[in-house]
Amino acid sequence: MGGNSNIKLIDDNGIRIDGRRVDELRPIKIEAGVLKRADGSAYVEFGKNKVLAAVYGPRECHPRHMQDPSKAIVQCKYNMISFSVSDRKRPGPDRRSVEISKIISEAFEYVVFTENYPRTSIDVYIEVLQANAGTRCAGLTAASVALADAGIPMRDLVPSVAVGKVNDQIVLDLQKEEDNFGQADLPLAIIPRTGEVILMQMDGHMTKPEFDKALEMGVGACKKIYALQKDALARRYAIEKVIDEAEEPAAEQTAEG
Ligand code: ADP
Repeated sequence: MGGNSNIKLIDDNGIRIDGRRVDELRPIKIEAGVLKRADGSAYVEFGKNKVLAAVYGPRECHPRHMQDPSKAIVQCKYNMISFSVSDRKRPGPDRRSVEISKIISEAFEYVVFTENYPRTSIDVYIEVLQANAGTRCAGLTAASVALADAGIPMRDLVPSVAVGKVNDQIVLDLQKEEDNFGQADLPLAIIPRTGEVILMQMDGHMTKPEFDKALEMGVGACKKIYALQKDALARRYAIEKVIDEAEEPAAEQTAEG
């Protein structure tokens, strides 16, 4: 958040530098079940962000002292790959990725029915392949589809998006330049079924009316992302059904032969 509001990021017609209007999302693509080895997986693009999420578990919790006899723990690891940003990012965890991992883990601890799986760990890996601001939101969106793909019972899917303030205007889904030179950044995630906000962070400043507008814009966008998440899962299971049906007659033939 540079806070430099002199840089013109929205033109006189209300068009942003990538051609979007203030209340427009970047193009979003979601695919479920993209990895064979993981119990659940998803790939998400939010504009130039490219994020992969993989879920393992519920499985025995290691280290053992972290086991909870009453519920599963959700351990999320958010990581940005070295080639995900323009300068090579030093590999391994840093302060920022530790923070993002923590807030995403806490969001999922609430969403997943963890009491169903005492003593276990549900491990969520988020790998950012290409970053262009809003990666924690793209990562959360991907991870919740991956959890559903792994068949883990949850209250709901979790769509997430950032809203911000740029050139004194409230804008949806900030991209890199807007994140760098804007005045505020407000990532949020919701449970659409209940309307609960389960993640909210704020970098920069907004007035109360601006915040209300940003929240309304963000929640509206989350509902659109939610529809795309459900569509990705529906497509995933439609494909699986086709494969199952294609395999069935072959199995019968072998039995007869
Ligand atoms: P988010 O990606 O959730 O918006 P930040 O606001 O912390 O999280 O980061 C904004 C953007 O800044 C990232 O999406 C990425 O494009 C860029 N960025 C973050 N960390 C680095 C880094 N270590 N090196 C280069 N660019 C980075």
